[in-house]
Amino acid sequence: MNDKQIGEALHSLLTEHYDYLDVVEYEEHPFIIVLDGWRCVEKIVEQAKQIDPEISDLEDVILRAYDIDITLKFSSCYWGFGDEWTYCEDCRQAICLSPAHAFDVPDYWFIDGHGYACGDCIRDDEDVSEEYLAMLNRNHRNANTIFDEDQLGKLGFKRVDGDYYCRMFSHCDCPEAVLHEAKKEYSKETDIIFNIDSMNPFEVDYSLFVRVKA
Ligand SMILES: [Zn+2]
Repeated sequence: MNDKQIGEALHSLLTEHYDYLDVVEYEEHPFIIVLDGWRCVEKIVEQAKQIDPEISDLEDVILRAYDIDITLKFSSCYWGFGDEWTYCEDCRQAICLSPAHAFDVPDYWFIDGHGYACGDCIRDDEDVSEEYLAMLNRNHRNANTIFDEDQLGKLGFKRVDGDYYCRMFSHCDCPEAVLHEAKKEYSKETDIIFNIDSMNPFEVDYSLFVRVKA
């Protein structure tokens, strides 16, 4: 077999395993979400070796199957397990569900009955943006992590004076009480949303944004 035929054989190997895999995209590269643990990875690599004995791991299989320039390879970014990765239902971009670092905030939204939507799809579609904001409106259990302050400004929101925070071992501004006070201050027509300013495993800084409907 020549290189092209090997690539095609590996590509069909991956797509034949579709029950165990989701083939999506991540930073414009194919990304394989492995749904069935290491057993599945081993099985694919074992079968791939029968096609090309030089294959050593799942990254090799993906690189060859999708004909990706080897110089683009950076460690383990081409696949992940299904308990940490999912994908956007709208654009099929891979979404990492586990924080990359202590200050990471989620850039996705889980929609009941629909699945996950990535931050880009929420920001880029006015209807989805408004759906997201409606979910946050007057809801002390959820807070915005998708729009930054400039973007909120363009959507008609203004930051309310006062910073709130919850520290694990000291003070905590209860979001329910904060919302209760805000409701007294603003008319029923005013949208009130919580915004995460920063977070880490031990503390959350948050603020309120309001939008007075015309
Ligand atoms: Zn998306």
